[in-house]
Amino acid sequence: METSTLHPVPAREWKEIELTPPEAGAELMRRAREAFDSWRQKSMDERLSYLRTLRHLIVDRMDEGTAIISQDTGKPKVEALTGDILTVLDAIRHAEKRVKHALKPRRVRTPISLIGKRSFVTYQPRGVVLVISPWNYPFQLSVVPVIAALAAGNTVILKPSEVTPRVGAWIASLFREAGFPEGVVQVAIGEKKLGARLIEEHPDYIFFTGSAQTGKIIQQEAAKRLIPTTLELGGKDPMIVFADANLNRAVKGAVWGALTNCGQVCMSVERIYVEETIHDTFVEALKKEVARLRLDGGDETDLGTMTVERQKEIVRRHVEDAITSGAKLVSGLHPRDWPESDGLRVHPVILTGVDAQSAVMREETFGPVICVLPFRDEAEAIRAANDSIYGLSASVWTSDIEKARQVAQSLETGSVVINDVVLSIANPYLPFGGVKESGIGRYHGDEGYRIFCHEKSLLIDRGWLPSEVHWFPYQNKLIPFRTLVANLYGRKRSFFRFVRSYLTLLATSLRESGSKGDETG
Ligand code: ADP
Repeated sequence: METSTLHPVPAREWKEIELTPPEAGAELMRRAREAFDSWRQKSMDERLSYLRTLRHLIVDRMDEGTAIISQDTGKPKVEALTGDILTVLDAIRHAEKRVKHALKPRRVRTPISLIGKRSFVTYQPRGVVLVISPWNYPFQLSVVPVIAALAAGNTVILKPSEVTPRVGAWIASLFREAGFPEGVVQVAIGEKKLGARLIEEHPDYIFFTGSAQTGKIIQQEAAKRLIPTTLELGGKDPMIVFADANLNRAVKGAVWGALTNCGQVCMSVERIYVEETIHDTFVEALKKEVARLRLDGGDETDLGTMTVERQKEIVRRHVEDAITSGAKLVSGLHPRDWPESDGLRVHPVILTGVDAQSAVMREETFGPVICVLPFRDEAEAIRAANDSIYGLSASVWTSDIEKARQVAQSLETGSVVINDVVLSIANPYLPFGGVKESGIGRYHGDEGYRIFCHEKSLLIDRGWLPSEVHWFPYQNKLIPFRTLVANLYGRKRSFFRFVRSYLTLLATSLRESGSKGDETG
């Protein structure tokens, strides 16, 4: 049976959104700490049953959510459904399947120098996790880390972006309706002052997604208190297209990769490097493909709007600056001709002949702008792609998968997608994160649960012997220890001599502890 109709019920009114004042930070933290004790004691199955309920609820209410996400961000409903809601559902299913495995205590090897002992690693929840999230994928980038932190046994304070408050309120209502115990997930909607205040309350972990600029501030504040963090920051993703690529597919992929979410994606295709022999053909096909996009704003529109005015201003500055420094405007309007009546809409811009030093090639544009540049050979393409302060993701397009894999190894990024774009973030089994100024740490995959845990090491001795070879006293131990080390790790090793030196040390230790026992007894 269909669970929804194509034309969803209108979103509930979310006008009465309660903003959390910064002063509430201490109380939020107190409640989160109080809830932690019982949440961490629950079995994994019980915690997962709450997440399963949440999954069903999101599906039941997906039309409402799609409408709210679309209203708050300006993105088409299809993108709200696939980029935000579906990704969260995939993440919950991943937790249901993987978290037990990822956090199972595991036995690790113990070196022979610690003979007689066994070693294990266990995972313990950290406590209260603070998730600070942005506005471009306000549902996905908030809820995915929250799910992982909860599954691992933490309680969570989520501070979603003030730019998309209705999505924040919707998230709060979902967790409430799913019946999570009081204090386990608290959604605090407010401005950056609230985020800063919550950091002062000393959470046990901060998971931040947003701009590199804010990420650096968060990291400084966290460092003052030695709070561990994961930072998911911006990108300037390159797309490398070789002449042997499936051209039609590459063109369509470029258009989607650069323009989905109106280009407001950290993994957006922001720089396209095309092998020079096909450069002109590629640009011509790109222009035609962009011209086919629907911008009418209806349910089936392809391109949404920008979400915030200040981002549109950044796009305007980058395009203007590029044209001034000699770039050719192949498609779209010169910013001086952008009609006021367009509001947050920006007609997609294609630029060629862009100066590699201009802002549009060096800073994150985060808008519907496609820059195409030619390259001569593989080495030049790799050099150009790596010439960035960012290193989030990249894509390589060629029919030679072996070549693509080799190029991928040379790219300084957290992920590479071959003959597709952006999608590495959509597979919850793949770790996700950036290098350079794109961030610190990874989430998704098994790592995505482990970051929210202390790794606790256990070394177990059965406690049968009265003493250990390396314990006091050291009398008569230096020479046998030298023999032991040399025969364990030296150039000329003898297992026999290693065992003999070990037994000598053991006998010395036991004799000493025996005689000490006699003296004291
Ligand atoms: P943008 O400026 O595009 O909204 P940011 O990276 O500044 O992106 O914001 C991402 C998230 O970080 C938002 O939820 C925002 O409120 C929050 N934030 C911004 N500045 C701070 C800060 N100094 N301390 C804590 N949170 C912050």
